Amino acid sequence: MTLPHRSSLDHIPPYKQGQGPAAGAAASHKLSSNENPYPPLASVTAAVAECLGGINEYPNGGAPELTARLAEQFSVSAENICLGAGSVEVAAQLIHATTDPGDEVMFAWRSFEAYPMLARVAGAVPLEVPLDAEGRHDLPAMAAAITDRTRLVFICNPNNPTGTIVTTAEVEAFMREVPSTVLVVIDEAYLHFNREPGSAQGIEFFRSYPNVAVLHTFSKAYGLAGLRVGYAIAPAEVAANLRKTAIPFAVTTLAQHAAVASLDAEDELQVRIDALIQARAELSARFTAAGIEFPPSYANFIWLPTGEDTGAVDAILRERGIWGRAFAGEGIRISIGNPEANEAILAAVTAAVPGVRVQLG
Ligand SMILES: *Cc1c(COP(=O)(O)O)cnc(C)c1O
Repeated sequence: MTLPHRSSLDHIPPYKQGQGPAAGAAASHKLSSNENPYPPLASVTAAVAECLGGINEYPNGGAPELTARLAEQFSVSAENICLGAGSVEVAAQLIHATTDPGDEVMFAWRSFEAYPMLARVAGAVPLEVPLDAEGRHDLPAMAAAITDRTRLVFICNPNNPTGTIVTTAEVEAFMREVPSTVLVVIDEAYLHFNREPGSAQGIEFFRSYPNVAVLHTFSKAYGLAGLRVGYAIAPAEVAANLRKTAIPFAVTTLAQHAAVASLDAEDELQVRIDALIQARAELSARFTAAGIEFPPSYANFIWLPTGEDTGAVDAILRERGIWGRAFAGEGIRISIGNPEANEAILAAVTAAVPGVRVQLG
């Protein structure tokens, strides 16, 4: 007997979650998923606690309060805001809302691991355009690779896992080449960690072009990865179709209230973001002083392009309690952690990288 199964799923590898040390392991740091190392703010846990008595009821699927706050913050209409259980869920909705089977979804590679899987699950064809030698999006190559089947292009800015950015001028040149029938989605999961003035700002492109959407999340800078809430700012026509593809009640009341409380606590959260940016700068400077080459990061992680030595370096890092995210043959992404974790990263990386004589870059 064979149970029914969709044959195209045979080509989709299962999603690999970032790994961490075994429970109880001493002095280990899970730095594999770019989570915020700080505990939730007291005001945010209080907002969540207040909702607990109501979890017998479904959430308000329209999330009116959070939607209104976001619309106000970005000076857009509420109808442009689409919430989901994490921005990865909204990315899936964007693909479902724009592609028929066999249509193409383009992105740089290597980039966010979810893109190829989400495209395949939707029945779309992933089109991967290699990053350039510096780990940056090759936007001219992406523009040239667009076909009449391409419906959606993800630009991940800053890029996960290389930490690189695209500039305003580069995206403007790209938009001049992109047909207006293709939706360009600028995924800004790490927006708060990017202070580069020349960087493209998704919201500005959303305002200037009818075929641009932006993805934001509460998982990284706001520290709500465990509650699952993210959103798109999308053209009204796309947003209406996103709502059709959404799973009903995906964003819980707890998540909605935690997100609103986080927007109320921007100043307090900013102190933590500043500390992570400062730690990134210090670690980067110490790596450089140790002779390690890597692309400058604009996110809450650092990418070590360890190439062939990735497995060997990763093994040494783990022995020293550092659990980053290794991509065999390419490199290792290590999230910025708390001060103790960052000391451990510095010690482990400076020990591991020269030790295996890595050909970096
Ligand atoms: C972490 C991440 C996301 C979003 O994660 P959610 O927790 O689903 O909001 C989206 N895009 C990129 C590139 C990421 O790294």
